[in-house]
Amino acid sequence: MNCPQSAYLHIPFCYRRCFYCDFPVVPLGDSARGDYGPGSNSIKSYLDLLYRDISLSPKGMPLATIYIGGGTPSLLSSSQVANLLDHLRSHFGFQFGAEITLEIDPASFDKVSLEGFLDAGINRLSLGAQSFDDNVLKQLGRTHSSTELLEACDWIQDNFKIGKLSSWSLDLIKDLPGQNLIAWERQLLKAISIAPPHLSIYDLSIETGTVFAWKLNRGELSLPNDELSFDISKITSQILRGAGFSRYEISNYALPGHVSRHNRVYWSGANWWGFGQGATACPWGHRFTRPRTRKFYKEWIEKEEMAGKLVSFEPTPKSQIINVEDLLIVGLRRREGVNLKMLFKGLGWTNHQLEENINALKMCWEYPLKKGWIKQNGWRFSLTDPEGMEISNQILVQMLEWWESINGCSSD
Ligand code: SF4
Repeated sequence: MNCPQSAYLHIPFCYRRCFYCDFPVVPLGDSARGDYGPGSNSIKSYLDLLYRDISLSPKGMPLATIYIGGGTPSLLSSSQVANLLDHLRSHFGFQFGAEITLEIDPASFDKVSLEGFLDAGINRLSLGAQSFDDNVLKQLGRTHSSTELLEACDWIQDNFKIGKLSSWSLDLIKDLPGQNLIAWERQLLKAISIAPPHLSIYDLSIETGTVFAWKLNRGELSLPNDELSFDISKITSQILRGAGFSRYEISNYALPGHVSRHNRVYWSGANWWGFGQGATACPWGHRFTRPRTRKFYKEWIEKEEMAGKLVSFEPTPKSQIINVEDLLIVGLRRREGVNLKMLFKGLGWTNHQLEENINALKMCWEYPLKKGWIKQNGWRFSLTDPEGMEISNQILVQMLEWWESINGCSSD
């Protein structure tokens, strides 16, 4: 497996924790800033750790994609983003035309800081809009208002039109409490009218320990039932297809030429660097998540520094283990699906094993195959849009149960 050519950098700070979020974030309060004032010391000392973390990695191939995610990375000042990119560039180098994405939240930046991010080298933005409805934003515990969101979209779109940005994405959440078809359609049409070239549409997921989980237990959240959820998914697919978007992954839609290259790296099972507290890296196919708290992250860096190199990621024959579960899941989430022959031949399966095991999988998938929710093209299997994608969880679980049942037999 080749050396990674992609890097993810995690910035864990947010103004406050949204009511549905269970990410490893550090809420710093609504007036937090990266360069001065509330929370800035915490951010600065974290960035120092991040530089040390990057410096530990062996120098490898120049990077083709970089993604600064969080948290709310737009809490950093533009000079902090520039320094971070300089540090990364001087360590690895960047390929010509590298895709460099920054996740940003409305109300955490203004027109001037946006231009500063672009001058620093950011050429793709991912805007956490979530909804254009103020009541919904309040219900989600978001910091921004719809007015601030629309203003942010205008600034971004202006820069996109003059070519200072090569692409940008807008995130929305569907299947929210109390959501109906008309309200959701209005959200989608609003998003389309703004004309982002990429949209990520996530389903609300209720995570343990969140305010939403607490409310759900008390019967205070009325979530769309399966039928409504299916209809919401169906009109999403129809409306976005009509607007020229291609659904290239279950939650991601792009106009031609605007598929996220960085996302593709994750979904293809290729390898990537990951830096920062709680960040997952997968160099040489060896997946590792750094400690999720500042204390343990700092201790981990100190330990690696004492060893004089990044011992957790040293490529060894043993570390070149493909995580098949991940490849199966991410493969089936993509529009082109997953080629099981290619995947399992890589694990050394014989033709006989391949045929026997894939036939067993097809028995598990008998119903969705019969209903046409899974398409088979040779050894390649993919989900149909929207039917297959809407029941993807059941189909993925059936596949994982199949993998678990045969894994012991095939690994000897
Ligand atoms: S802004 Fe994003 S990362 Fe931060 S708490 Fe809200 S959902 Fe979580």
